[in-house]
Amino acid sequence: MENPAVTHTGGCQCGTVKFQASGTPRFVSKCHCNSCRNATGAAFSTWVGFADEQVRWLKAAPSTHASSPGVARGFCADCGTPLTYAGDDWPGETHLLIGVFDTPSAFTPNKDVFTEDALDWVLPAKG
Ligand SMILES: [Zn+2]
Ligand SMILES: [Zn+2]
Repeated sequence: MENPAVTHTGGCQCGTVKFQASGTPRFVSKCHCNSCRNATGAAFSTWVGFADEQVRWLKAAPSTHASSPGVARGFCADCGTPLTYAGDDWPGETHLLIGVFDTPSAFTPNKDVFTEDALDWVLPAKG
């Protein structure tokens, strides 16, 4: 349910990139794909998905890198912190990494995606 009164804030490690995200995210999911793993350096990535209009850049917006065709990954050009994902498959959405929020505990992921790429020790053993 949309609650525009709730405002989340966050930014990169050096403070050059700062944002505010208003309301309820569309999803919170853990992505196990190889591309996210390589882009963030973490075993898996937890994404908080907002509509573009819910996200406002307060200082500089992130720089972007096209990790594959139609995909723009945002990062701080000054300190290197990865922040966002935007892809043609999710038009009009900005996905923010949970770790760049000032209060990441505000979100709880409820979905694992690209589990076929997951490292063996990350998810419970199947079968
Ligand atoms: Zn920075
Ligand atoms: Zn991914």
